[in-house]
Amino acid sequence: MQALVFNGPGQKRLEDRPIPELEAPGDAIVKVSRTTICGTDLHILKGDVPTCEPGRILGHEGVGVVDKVGAGVTAFRRGDHVLISCITACGRCEYCRRGMYSHCTTGGWILGNRIDGTQAEYVRIPHADTSLYPIPAGADEEAQVMLSDILPTGLECGVLNGKVQPGASVAIVGSGPIGLAALLTAQFYAPAQVIMLDSDSNRLEVARRFGATALVNATGDDAVKAVLQLTSGRGVDTAIEAVGMPASFATCQDIVAPGGVIANIGVHGTKADLHLERLWDRNIAITTRLVDTVTTPMLLKTVQSGKLDPAKLITHRFPLDRIVEAYATFARAANTGALKVVVTP
Ligand SMILES: [Zn+2]
Ligand SMILES: [Zn+2]
Repeated sequence: MQALVFNGPGQKRLEDRPIPELEAPGDAIVKVSRTTICGTDLHILKGDVPTCEPGRILGHEGVGVVDKVGAGVTAFRRGDHVLISCITACGRCEYCRRGMYSHCTTGGWILGNRIDGTQAEYVRIPHADTSLYPIPAGADEEAQVMLSDILPTGLECGVLNGKVQPGASVAIVGSGPIGLAALLTAQFYAPAQVIMLDSDSNRLEVARRFGATALVNATGDDAVKAVLQLTSGRGVDTAIEAVGMPASFATCQDIVAPGGVIANIGVHGTKADLHLERLWDRNIAITTRLVDTVTTPMLLKTVQSGKLDPAKLITHRFPLDRIVEAYATFARAANTGALKVVVTP
C-alpha cells in the first residue's frame, strides 16, 4: 500500500509499505477513506516531536471502513464506517478511568507518532472498541475527519480549559485550523467578544465569516495594543494560544485580564518565557492539555444536527499519490490559502 513516511526532520516520502496486520486481540485494521494533514505533522517534520522516529507513517486523523477486527473487538465489525480518534484509549487504565485518554498508559497520542498512522491506505488501530466511533449513516465523510482531532482539540484544550463563559471576552492567538476550530466551538458558550489574531489576512477573513467579532492583523506589541484597545484596556477573560511559538505565548500573557485564563493549545518545540514578575498578582490560570477526545460523541451529534459545520474548514483536496504536493500546499498556507487539506487514498 502507499503511505507517507517520516524519514527524519525535513524528510518525508511516499513509500510502498505492507498492509498492516492485527497484532493484538483488541486491534482493528481500517481501510482509510479520508485523511488530512495537521499542523502537528509539520511540527514532527520540524523535529519538534522526538517520540516520532524515522520510518514512521504519519497521520492521526481520518475516517474509513473496518477491514478486519481482532478476536477481542466487540463493538465493531468488518464493513462498519468509523471515525478514527487521534487519541487511542484502552478504557481501563487509571488515566482512562479518569477520562484522561490522552495519557492512556498503552495509548494516548500514538497514531502517526509512536505507531504508524493514517496517511496510508490502511491503518492498524489498537484498542479499537474505545478508539473508534461509529459514523452515522449518510454523514458527510469529509466533515467527520475534522472530528478526529481539531474540533475536540479546539474545544477541550482551548474553550473548556479556557473557561469560556456567556458574555465573556476571548482572544484566539493564531487563526489556523486549530484557532478556527476553537472559534467555532467557543460559540457554544455565547461569549460577547471573540477577537482573532493572525498575520495572514486571508485566515482573518475566514475567521470573520466563522463568527469572530474583531480581527487583529498584527503580532507582538502592536497585537497587544490592539487587543487592549478592543477591551477598554482590561484584556481578555480567555487568551487561547493556538500557534505553538514563544512569541504567541508571550502575547497571551500580555493580553490576559485579571482573573483570566491562558489556555495553551499549541505544540511547543522550544522553551517559552513565563513572565511571573508581571503575572504573579493577577489571579490568572495557565492550562495545558493534550486533547482527551472526551467531547467527540457530543461533537458528532452537533455536526449531525447541523449545529456545527466543520466541512467549511476544508479548502483543498488531493489523492494520496499527490500527498507530498498536499503537504506543500498546507505548509505554504499564506500563499495558498490552505486550511484543512483532505487526502483520499
Ligand atoms: Zn491533528
Ligand atoms: Zn488507558
